[in-house]
Amino acid sequence: MDSRRRFLFKLAASASAPIALGSRAFGQAPPPVKLEESDPVATALGYKMDTTKVDKAKYPNHKDDQVCTGCALFTPKAGEEFAPCSAFGGKLVANKGWCAAYAKKP
Ligand code: SF4
Repeated sequence: MDSRRRFLFKLAASASAPIALGSRAFGQAPPPVKLEESDPVATALGYKMDTTKVDKAKYPNHKDDQVCTGCALFTPKAGEEFAPCSAFGGKLVANKGWCAAYAKKP
C-alpha cells in the first residue's frame, strides 16, 4: 500500500469510528421500543393500541373514553402518536391505547 492510500485508509477509519460506535459511546440511552400487542406482558394486561378494540367481555369496567393519554402512567410527547408508559418499562404505547393497568390522571 503506497503512502497516499495508507493515509486515505487511516483517514476513513478514524472518521468512521465515532459513527460505528454510535450513541452508546457517548452514554445516550438506546431509542425507546414500541410496545407490541403480542408482547407477553401486554397480552396479560389486555393492551390494545386502539381502546375501542379492548375485549369487553374480559374487561367489563373498560370504557372507550379511557385512553393512554388520560392515564397517570403515560408520559406524553407533543406531536407524537406513541409515548412512553411506565407500566411497560418506558416502551412506547399508542395515545389511543389502553390496558388493564389504566389509572385515570388526577
Ligand atoms: S398503563 Fe396507562 S398508559 Fe400504559 S398502556 Fe395502560 S392505559 Fe396506556
